[in-house]
Amino acid sequence: MLPPARRICPATMSSRVDHVVICDFDGTVARADVGNSFFGTFAEAPWADAVQEWKEGRIGSKECLEKECRLTTATLEDLRRFSSLQDIDPGFHDVVGWTREHYVPLAIVSDGFREYISLILGNHGLDVPCFANRVEFKGSRLRPSFPYFERGCGRCANCKGFHVRRYRDAGYRTVFIGDGLSDLCALPESDVVLAKNELADHCEREKIPHTRIADLGDALHVLRELG
Ligand SMILES: [Mg+2]
Ligand SMILES: [Zn+2]
Repeated sequence: MLPPARRICPATMSSRVDHVVICDFDGTVARADVGNSFFGTFAEAPWADAVQEWKEGRIGSKECLEKECRLTTATLEDLRRFSSLQDIDPGFHDVVGWTREHYVPLAIVSDGFREYISLILGNHGLDVPCFANRVEFKGSRLRPSFPYFERGCGRCANCKGFHVRRYRDAGYRTVFIGDGLSDLCALPESDVVLAKNELADHCEREKIPHTRIADLGDALHVLRELG
């Protein structure tokens, strides 16, 4: 259940339509593409072929992640250690602070795995709702699962369009922050797009209204303008 979009803001006692901030994780909150570098570290060589097939649109991200997991030998302890080495954009702390101060819901939506996202956020003292794929460790084998697959576009393992649309349908003005190819389905559902890197290039090419950001410090400036 999502919180109602129109409610009394306790800070100002005024009623207003709320924004929601929905943020990608890999390359946006985490500096690195954590999923990719995890597979780069623990999977056998053909993992990169699966990613290439996905980039070229020949397979969806569910199939890509399933292939990558099959090629990987790693334990939960490996994931913990790997996650403890990951940096986040320091601006994310300020984004979290701004959303709390303004009673704006914030969620992370990722086509990676919730397990490393929770570990990394926890390591940085953060607790933010997260919608992502799941992975279980059976010894050193990985068993992925995709709780939102059926509700998405059929190509994404966890379609960001589905999650952003849920907020929009509940009456929110949706602000999406992302950096890459796994964010494309979020674009038509977003009222405000803050885009880094490949996602900003894509928006430019396709003439999709967006603000190009270098990092979450830039994102915070845009959020402050929203009021
Ligand atoms: Mg990303
Ligand atoms: Zn999708």
